[in-house]
Amino acid sequence: MKDCIFCKIAEKKAPASIIYEDDLSIAFKDINPQAPTHILIIPKKHLRTVVEATEEDKELLGHLIYVANTIANDLNVSNKGFRLVINCGSQSGQMVWHVHIHLLGGRHMTWPPG
Ligand code: 5GP
Ligand code: ZN
Repeated sequence: MKDCIFCKIAEKKAPASIIYEDDLSIAFKDINPQAPTHILIIPKKHLRTVVEATEEDKELLGHLIYVANTIANDLNVSNKGFRLVINCGSQSGQMVWHVHIHLLGGRHMTWPPG
């Protein structure tokens, strides 16, 4: 999708610290980390928000969580615990309109989130 920064990262047309890639997804370091580990996992397919996902995206969404779990293991944050966040829509604070999972780890998390 033209003018989508995450599509550009997925197409290697914009720079990012990529830590994982497969046919369906790519993961890279968040440019403004909110925890010692802050990775974004995105589908290569442009989906604006989870709200727009259809039945055909079911496996893709599951794949993204599986990838996040694999990365959490690889980065050694899974034994102490980590958080996966998907902001969905403007009131949630979604700023980039291409579905992404935040993987946050390496510090204690509080609840409820802000
Ligand atoms: P949202 O608020 O949409 O859930 O989160 C968007 C995230 O993308 C933010 O944490 C922000 O720091 C990150 N981000 C925005 N633009 C870029 C970029 O160009 N590169 C990288 N690596 N992260 C970005
Ligand atoms: Zn996109």
